[in-house]
Amino acid sequence: MPAYFDHNATTPVHPDVFAAMKPYLNEQFGNASCLYRLGVDASYAVEKARMQLARLLGCSEDEIVFTSGGTESDNLALKGAVYSTGKKHIITSAIEHPGIIRACEFMQQYMNCTVTYLPVDGEGRVSPADVDKVITEDTAIVSIMTANNEIGSIQPIAEITEITKKHGVLFHTDAVQAVGRIEVDVNAIGVDLLSLSGHKFYGPKGVGALYVRKGVDLVSIQQGGGHEQGRRAGTENVAGIVGLGKAAVIARKEREQKSQRAAALRDRLWQKVDALAIGVKRNSPANDVLPGTLNVTLPNINAREFVRAMDSEGFCIATGSACSTGKPTPSYVLKALGRSDADAIASVRLTLGASNTEEEIEKFVAILPRVVETVSETASA
Ligand code: PLP
Repeated sequence: MPAYFDHNATTPVHPDVFAAMKPYLNEQFGNASCLYRLGVDASYAVEKARMQLARLLGCSEDEIVFTSGGTESDNLALKGAVYSTGKKHIITSAIEHPGIIRACEFMQQYMNCTVTYLPVDGEGRVSPADVDKVITEDTAIVSIMTANNEIGSIQPIAEITEITKKHGVLFHTDAVQAVGRIEVDVNAIGVDLLSLSGHKFYGPKGVGALYVRKGVDLVSIQQGGGHEQGRRAGTENVAGIVGLGKAAVIARKEREQKSQRAAALRDRLWQKVDALAIGVKRNSPANDVLPGTLNVTLPNINAREFVRAMDSEGFCIATGSACSTGKPTPSYVLKALGRSDADAIASVRLTLGASNTEEEIEKFVAILPRVVETVSETASA
């Protein structure tokens, strides 16, 4: 097995999650809407998972809508809010995940919406005062992520929701990277809507949820059967939902200890990389940051080449930037932080989790100078 340093991309399914899901993929295959025993059992399993997830978020069961993942939850929150309020202005940040950014672009193009993208500071933080300044009579929703997927910065959500409440405007947070890693209590942070995804915290892929505060009117964006109290049509992914519920139970029990461990490994990694004195720059903030996340700029490399070279050395890591037609595009997140194109293209994301060990950190640090040198030679050749 390679050393997996990409836990913000996805996490392996916890063995207990897999064991909980398994019966619902074969003998307990019933449709949760059916009236006979097999269906009722499936429906019971879905409701149990709803309760398990509600406990993790500190909300009640009827505030949970199961979806196919973070992307769907983000789309449902934004589009549902625009349909239900009849308002057309959306406020978000420049560093949101494409699940928000692309949905906003779509809404501008096809739903007659206007979007305000708030800037962030050098640590990737939105200023609550900026939110206050841009809310208008036509603002349908403000959507600011809890924690960023590329650099890990955590936003001052509770301060922002003070402002949206004052204006009576809906607030949504994409908490896909946060749930299961840091404490997320919907009442403590005062959000109206919150997106999460199973595969980021040792649950399965293709399942997630949207928390919808009681009393929030949200128009469904997908029409069909009356599933999820009419808020999300489509036969429930019973096995996935069961897995998500189990992942929530495990997160309640193990989150704190796992996160402390990931943070300690991340800090150790940074100290050792920094001590190499080969010119590595840190992009992730030092405080108010996801426990396992470290984004760095390496000297004079192309991140894609580096990622490939590290793969051959047995490490899974990520570039911060997307790539189309083979040409690297500098990460818009790092650009929003004020980094240059050259620095953004030379940046990689190292995200640690449950599987990582000190030995892996030692090995990474030991081979880093050699791999950087090889790749920078290729880059300049
Ligand atoms: N939002 C954030 C912040 C993410 O990091 C991701 C996944 O990388 C998503 C949304 C999308 O979630 P999903 O993969 O469940 O659609």
